[in-house]
Amino acid sequence: MPAPHVVTRFAPSPTGHLHVGGARTAMFCWAFARRMQGSFVLRIEDTDAARSSDESARGIMEDLAWLGIHWDQGPTLSWQGKAIGGDPYHVGPFSQAQRVKTHYDPHIMMLVEKGLAYPATESSEELEVERKKATAAKQTYRYNRASYQRIASVADRIKLIESGEPHVIRFFAPSGPIVVKDQVLGDVKIAPGELDDFVIRKADGLPTYHFAVVVDDQTMGITHVLRAQEHLINTPRHVALQQAFGFRSPIYGHMPLIFNTDGSKMSKRDKAKTARKALADAIAKGGDAGQLAAKLAILPTELDAFLRADNDSLDTAERIARHLRVALPEIEVADFREAGYSPQAINNFLALLGWNPGMKLPDGKDLERFDLAFLSEHFSIERIGKTNGKFDRKKLLSFNGDVLSAMADDAYFEAWRAWATACEPEFASKLASLDAATRALLVGAVKPRAKTFREATSACAFVFARPASYDVAAVEKHLRANDGQGLTLLRAFSGALDKLPTFDAPTVHTAIEAVATAHALPNPGALAQATRIALTGTTVSPGLDVSLALLGKAESLARIQACVVGHN
Ligand code: GLU
Repeated sequence: MPAPHVVTRFAPSPTGHLHVGGARTAMFCWAFARRMQGSFVLRIEDTDAARSSDESARGIMEDLAWLGIHWDQGPTLSWQGKAIGGDPYHVGPFSQAQRVKTHYDPHIMMLVEKGLAYPATESSEELEVERKKATAAKQTYRYNRASYQRIASVADRIKLIESGEPHVIRFFAPSGPIVVKDQVLGDVKIAPGELDDFVIRKADGLPTYHFAVVVDDQTMGITHVLRAQEHLINTPRHVALQQAFGFRSPIYGHMPLIFNTDGSKMSKRDKAKTARKALADAIAKGGDAGQLAAKLAILPTELDAFLRADNDSLDTAERIARHLRVALPEIEVADFREAGYSPQAINNFLALLGWNPGMKLPDGKDLERFDLAFLSEHFSIERIGKTNGKFDRKKLLSFNGDVLSAMADDAYFEAWRAWATACEPEFASKLASLDAATRALLVGAVKPRAKTFREATSACAFVFARPASYDVAAVEKHLRANDGQGLTLLRAFSGALDKLPTFDAPTVHTAIEAVATAHALPNPGALAQATRIALTGTTVSPGLDVSLALLGKAESLARIQACVVGHN
């Protein structure tokens, strides 16, 4: 198989879930490879053994697969009966932990033999002393090359490496200027002497990130590196290493970052921030911190530390959120999956954070709605912007609502059921138990309004359970006020419904209108609110006619009856 002429890669460190910023990087790399009929590599950067896990790598792969960003080369994932990944060009393995002896060690020795890398034996305490001296003299600390000078010949350096004496390997940094040619930002110049002799292999024998990336990008044939701007600071080191090896540098494109709308960086810590605020509000409203800690099964001292922002424990944040019933902000792709977002809306929204197609609709507005197929035909590095993206959750939610409501009913039901199977298994079995006619009614009820599958699920929870209680304020306002007008309407409505020969949404609708007219109501609002309370315990439900049709005649009448009797 001839090697493709464009090869991009996404190289996550498996130390957690896939962040939306990572998803965008992966999507752009994927789209560029598709557009150029190239290949897209997934590489797992797991040389930080303490922080990496197979579970995280698997989660990242599943999130990518779910988004539809499928890699051509990389670890193999079996997904919905298909295999994603593989090694068609024999450049694997794709986990860095598996490349130490085969790839990194030989490349380390190549540089040592050229005199461009050397073992250094200073202990961290010794280095710390030097660092402090530099700080006291208000100078930037640079390693002083003492080991390079002390062991001056290549043969002696190799002897030391083989002796087993503890050491790291340092790169002999070039003294000339370094230029990073960046397709998004233009040329980025690093002045002579800026680079120090950074470590390329740690004392534990594992390569540092900088070294592994350079060896892998070369040996995997990567031609284009698109990644977030936070990596720009690393790139001069990568270019210097490439030049030391005589590798050609890939083409770089560093992409803008993604921020919250308030200008803060979008990060996992936002969850802790939200939970902290909810906790502080609860305490300010008279909640007792000690009791809360006991209910949350958290030590009072820990809760206190959380409150003071001394720790950002995700576990604590999640406990608080569950207890106080607040929603934590979605940050990672897994959060959005859980919340019932569609991959299409997420992809579309993320693509616009840093790229736009630069096309107009016939009405002159910017073309904003597109899918991955469109992106893979039109994506270009030239149209990646320089300004940081703002993660506007309302816009994403509105994209999602539009994607969901545009789905055909059957597809909607299947996607909803797939979501529920993964995230709300109990609800999934309820969905599965419905007959075709009820399914259609249910979809008709929630699809136009619910912005996520989770919203759709709560919107129809009433179908599966009678009200456990009634909203007190709503009862006062809509049932008891005006001499119990709501209750009177409910009695009349119940009589009208009972007489209906069929019980579908249109006939029920006629009954609503008839009762409203008979009671000289200016509109059916008062009757609708009273009925909603009877059916759901609250004033929130999908369209009333559809809600009644969904419950069926017997169940609707039973709920109205129970509500009237309970509030007489
Ligand atoms: N492993 C790095 C990360 O997860 C990415 C490195 C790169 O793209 O060069 O941030």
